[in-house]
Amino acid sequence: MILEKNITGLMVYYYFVCQRKLWYFTHQINLEDQSELVQIGKQVDEHTYSREKKHLEIDQVINLDYIDSQHVLHEVKKSRAIEEASVWQLKYYLFYLKNHGVNGISGRIDYPLLRKQVDVELTNNDEEDLQTVLDKIKLINQASVVPILEEKSICKKCAYHDLCFI
Ligand code: SF4
Repeated sequence: MILEKNITGLMVYYYFVCQRKLWYFTHQINLEDQSELVQIGKQVDEHTYSREKKHLEIDQVINLDYIDSQHVLHEVKKSRAIEEASVWQLKYYLFYLKNHGVNGISGRIDYPLLRKQVDVELTNNDEEDLQTVLDKIKLINQASVVPILEEKSICKKCAYHDLCFI
């Protein structure tokens, strides 16, 4: 099993959101801080679950929202719009921890604004899929040309919209 220490959970998330977005991000073209949606996300993050221990950073690779007393790793999100990406980000955290000898942890995505939760487990098939995803992320990181533009429903709300569509 090869783990790429420089592949972060956010990169895995972006891989599933949009590979072009991932390319921008890994090439230091970072517009996310200006996005209104990102600001809303930060507010959700800052004002929920304040009793829990938050933001555990490991190896500068993964940034966990918090782990509760039942050994459940929580990722807080504001909406279910890109749930697949959130699920894979959390699976990557579980995968990364498992490969560092941390077992017996499960995952849960919390949507405080929706009052919903989604449980996430890491299967053997997921581990194989993640290894393929990590290889593909590495290739995108190394590519000198941005991936082909494929318009998506999320493009209008994306911080990189003008860069893609001007
Ligand atoms: S605007 Fe659309 S294609 Fe461009 S980076 Fe954002 S999501 Fe990807």
